[in-house]
Order: sequence, then structure tokens, then C-alpha cells
Amino acid sequence: MNGFVPAGQSMIKDLACHIFVGFKDKRGYGFKYDKRIKKMKLAHRLVYELKHDCFLKKNEVIMHLCDTPSCVNPQHLRLGSQAENLKDCRDKKRHMYGDRHTKSKISLKKALLIRKIYQSGALNQSEIGILVDLNQSTVRQILMGETWKETP
Ligand SMILES: [Zn+2]
Repeated sequence: MNGFVPAGQSMIKDLACHIFVGFKDKRGYGFKYDKRIKKMKLAHRLVYELKHDCFLKKNEVIMHLCDTPSCVNPQHLRLGSQAENLKDCRDKKRHMYGDRHTKSKISLKKALLIRKIYQSGALNQSEIGILVDLNQSTVRQILMGETWKETP
């Protein structure tokens, strides 16, 4: 298994997070040896590089759609710039603020995950529903902003 094990039970295997087992830093980022350059590097970056057969530049950030630093499922990884990553963090903080002021049963994290996956174009609404255990109409509501507004 190359040191990767899938975490959690999911109907669709590849939709589950693949939690890296091995050396991890305090933030939970795994490290893996890159045979091509004989150096250790962040596991999720290496996974992305190998999948796309490329080398990432320093300013290219790999973002986790699932917000799990130790996840190395290539389907959960997306290329973004440093600026985008910072903006993403800010957006999340703003959303967290909103979280306290709503009675929605869907967690903020789940709503964000649904939107990100949908925006990435990897899955359609009903597939996302299966992934997050919600029916398609709920997923659609979240995507339409009916359940989760952008601003608190
Ligand atoms: Zn993941």
C-alpha cells in the first residue's frame, strides 16, 4: 500500500481520505522520500507531483479539499497559490463566525467541503451526497447558498 492506508469506511473507496502513516510534523503533514531527487518532501505534495508527473514550485500550494493535513488522496488535493491559500483560511474564519449564529444542522466544515468538491468539478451533486451522507437536494441547497450564506 506504499505506506498509505484509507481511513474511514466509504461506499466509494477513493472518496475517503487516505491518511498518511509514517513521519508527520506537528501540523499533521506527512513526509515522504522522493526517489527522483533523493529528498524528503511533504507527502501530499509528492503525491500530487507523482500523479501529475511534475515538480511543484515553492510558491505553488497544494490545498486539501477535505481540510485534513495528513490526507494524501490525490482527489482531495488541489493546486492553489499561496495567496489563494491565505484567502481560503480567511474565508474559513469568516464562516466559522457564521457557524455560531445559525441553527443549521450541517456543519460548516461539511458545507465548505461540499462546495469545494463541487467547484473542483470532480463529482456531481448526487455523488457528493453519497460522500457526505446527505441527499442530493440538501447538497443542492448548500451549493445554491440556501442553507449556507456566504456572509454571516
Ligand atoms: Zn482527504
